[in-house]
Parts: sequence; C-alpha cells; structure tokens
Amino acid sequence: MLDEYQIEQPIIYQIIKNAAHKDTVTHAYLIELNGYSKGLDFAYAFAKFLLCPHHYSNFLNCNGCHQCETIDDGNFLEIKVISPEGQWIKKEQLEELQQEFNRKALVGNQKIYILDGADKLNTSSANSILKFLEEPVPGIIAILLVDNAYRVMNTIVSRCQILSLKKENHLHEKDLDTKTRLAYYSFHEQDEIEKFLKDDDTDAKIEMVVDYITFLEKNGYQAIIYKNKPFLEKFNDKNLLFLAFEWFILYYKDVLNCSLNKKIEFFQEQKEKIEEVAHRNTILKLSKKLEILLDLSETIKFNSNATMLMDKLVIDFMEVKK
Ligand SMILES: [Zn+2]
Repeated sequence: MLDEYQIEQPIIYQIIKNAAHKDTVTHAYLIELNGYSKGLDFAYAFAKFLLCPHHYSNFLNCNGCHQCETIDDGNFLEIKVISPEGQWIKKEQLEELQQEFNRKALVGNQKIYILDGADKLNTSSANSILKFLEEPVPGIIAILLVDNAYRVMNTIVSRCQILSLKKENHLHEKDLDTKTRLAYYSFHEQDEIEKFLKDDDTDAKIEMVVDYITFLEKNGYQAIIYKNKPFLEKFNDKNLLFLAFEWFILYYKDVLNCSLNKKIEFFQEQKEKIEEVAHRNTILKLSKKLEILLDLSETIKFNSNATMLMDKLVIDFMEVKK
C-alpha cells in the first residue's frame, strides 16, 4: 500500500496524495528510480491507490474494499506490467496490451500499464508510446519506470509528469539513535543534517515532543493549560512547529507499528513510552489521530495562530472516541 512509502519517499507520497485529493491525476507518469531498489513495488502501490475508488492508501481503510481485495489477490486485470523481452520492449508487446485493454473496456474502470524499463524502448516501440502520450485514451494511465529521465527520449519525457524517487538512505542502518533518524528524515542536505545534529537544543526538542504526547495521552484537556505554552516557546516559529508535527506523525506511526507488532522505526529509544500509548489506543483510534496530525500539519503554513492550532490538536484528539 502507498502508506508504506510515506517515510522513505515523503515527497512523492505527498504529491500523489494531493493529486488524487484535488482530482488532478494525469495520464502518464515517469518515475525516476535514482537507484531506489523497490521501484516496481512502489509503482504497484501507486497503481493500486489510483484504482481504489476511495483512493485508500493503507490496509486499515481498505478493509472490505472490493477493488483493493481483487488487486491483492492478483486477480486484477486492470494493471499490466511490461518489461523488456530480451534487450527491448517491443512494439508487439505494446500493441497486444492496447488490444487487451480495448477488449476489456469495462465501463468506468481505469486501466494502468507499467513499463518497467522505459529506457529499453526501440524506435518503433518508442513511437507507439509517444502516440499514446500525444492522444491519451481516457481511463488509461501509463507509469514509466526508468533509472534516470535523461535516458529516455525528450519527446516522451516532456509529456509525462516526472516523479523522482530517493535512493534508500541511512535510515536502514541498525544502530542509529532517534536523533540521527529524525535528522535524516527531516532534512535532505548533508550540511542541514549536521547542523541539526550539532545543535545543543536538538535533544531537548525531541524530549519535548515525546513528553507532550505522553502528557496528552494521560491527561487529555489539561495539556491546553499546562503544556501548550511551554511547547510553543520551544517551537516558536512555523518551520519549527512543522518539524514538531512531523515528529508527532512519526511517533504515532511508530505507535501504530508497535500495535501491529511491526518494527518501531524512529523512536526505538522511547520504546516503553510508545508501548504505553499503544495500549491506550485501538488501531482505529491511532489511525484517526494520525489523520488529525496530518490535516493540522498541512495548515501550519497558512495558520497564523499557533496557540489555536495546538488547542485544536488537543480537542480533536479528545474527540476521538473509539
Ligand atoms: Zn480500496
């Protein structure tokens, strides 16, 4: 599911979610892998997200969604993967696909084909892709996978929306502490990461985020009185507040992972506290809280009143009933 890539590929993840949300999904995507090893799995998750009538992005919501179940069972005929036969993707492979899609013209259903190795097009297959890109067939979406866009003909590239995946980073190394993991997640330039790690206040900030959640989970509305003010003194501008919300989100994702008996990814050092929050919440509650955090974090840039935002966080959390 698409949510599995939220941490490794945060930028693309957000672009895709926004496109579905605003109904601006286009008919052709070129995904640059940049050495990322799970590109094809990602393309499947992307396709599944697009085909799901509700654009569900996680297992929780998709429970009982017929479309998603069919895809998971491997019975779904609306996703086709084409990879090179021998050295090239051949024109015949693409023609066969088009005929198949046309034959099965199920009303209202979208169809997606994934070209795994879009740099392996010979002249005639490139031309037939180009024809599709110039005169797209309604309901058919193309996802082209390639290591780097420069290896694909310009005429093809210019007609696709390009999504650039990030190579797996150091987050996979086992013995990293919470601080380093958060640094690699929140910053992308090496000097920003180093600056963050050297900042004397970094530990205090992380501690405050963990402490805030622990307090809020235990004491509910009292967080408005006792915690919001000192919290906003520490996270005292929009960028910092956004960072704090990013960590809240990662924290609750860890709690959710803990509930699902999966690995805690960021806050390993806070394992006991994570387990405590996991015990206080059902999985459904946790996913609702994550939604609240995601929604609020998106409003930080436009919201001038940080106090109201934090109050809303507490109130929304307390209204999550089951
Ligand atoms: Zn679904």
